[in-house]
Amino acid sequence: RRILTERQRLRVEVERRTEQIQKDKAIIEQQAEELQKLDAAKSQFFANISHELRTPLTIILGMMDQIEKQPKNWLKAGAKMIRNNGRNLLDLINQILDLQKLESGTLQINPQFDDIIPFLRSIFDQFQALAISKDMKMTFNTELETLQMDYDSEKMLRIVSNMLSNAIKYTRENGQVTFTISKGIKTEVAPKPCLILTIRDTGRGILEAELPYVFDRFFRATTQEKVSSSGTGIGLALTKELVKLFQGEIEGLSELGSGSSFIVYLPITQQAPRAQSKDALAIPATI
Ligand code: ADP
Repeated sequence: RRILTERQRLRVEVERRTEQIQKDKAIIEQQAEELQKLDAAKSQFFANISHELRTPLTIILGMMDQIEKQPKNWLKAGAKMIRNNGRNLLDLINQILDLQKLESGTLQINPQFDDIIPFLRSIFDQFQALAISKDMKMTFNTELETLQMDYDSEKMLRIVSNMLSNAIKYTRENGQVTFTISKGIKTEVAPKPCLILTIRDTGRGILEAELPYVFDRFFRATTQEKVSSSGTGIGLALTKELVKLFQGEIEGLSELGSGSSFIVYLPITQQAPRAQSKDALAIPATI
């Protein structure tokens, strides 16, 4: 009788442990799968980044050769290309560093009180000049001729540049990009008036199922022609973090095949020190 009881006890124990092992195994398998996904996302990111770095570096080195061989013919145009490509490289690295600083909460902000409308118009004008080669119709609409408010010009440039360059990048020739500035109240953001920036394009749009992920780090839609469109999936993640830093909100609307709109709401505050003369800020040199 005692032996039987001992056997029973053992069987129960074996069953209990087997069950535990199966549970642990399931957990380990799930963790392995998640790690694999993360690993795949990282490899993809490194592949994208390498591509983003290689193109400008190839141009820079190729231009250096040309300048050495035929300085007379190439010095002026070559120097400009080298500067532009160098600037783009620096810009990419700065975006990665900013994203990291935002995540650790150490990104400094420097708001100043000034008229934001001419500032936004000057960013738009620089993009319009760049987009000329793509034969695009670019329109700037504003319901306000002037708006004195606090803003950090460097961060604002980053927000608007990312949205405008995406709109241009993901829209074919002869498409349309519209930048609209208005003022309104969005109670989810603040009970006070907000500056509303809307950038609308008639580009290829985003799949409905993928739209919620476009603000995720390293996310790139599956619908794009991977080879022809370069990118890292950092731009919108950084844009969203910056908008949050200013207590604002960003939303994206899109229909596959007909276009996308990105809308930023920024609460208007008027407390920062008045702007001193500002250095002109330059947008990234390619789209
Ligand atoms: P990147 O452009 O470097 O890939 P972003 O973070 O700026 O990264 O954008 C993430 C993804 O969202 C893009 O890869 C693209 O698939 C999609 N996307 C963003 N803006 C647009 C747009 N205006 N039209 C179509 N797709 C867009």
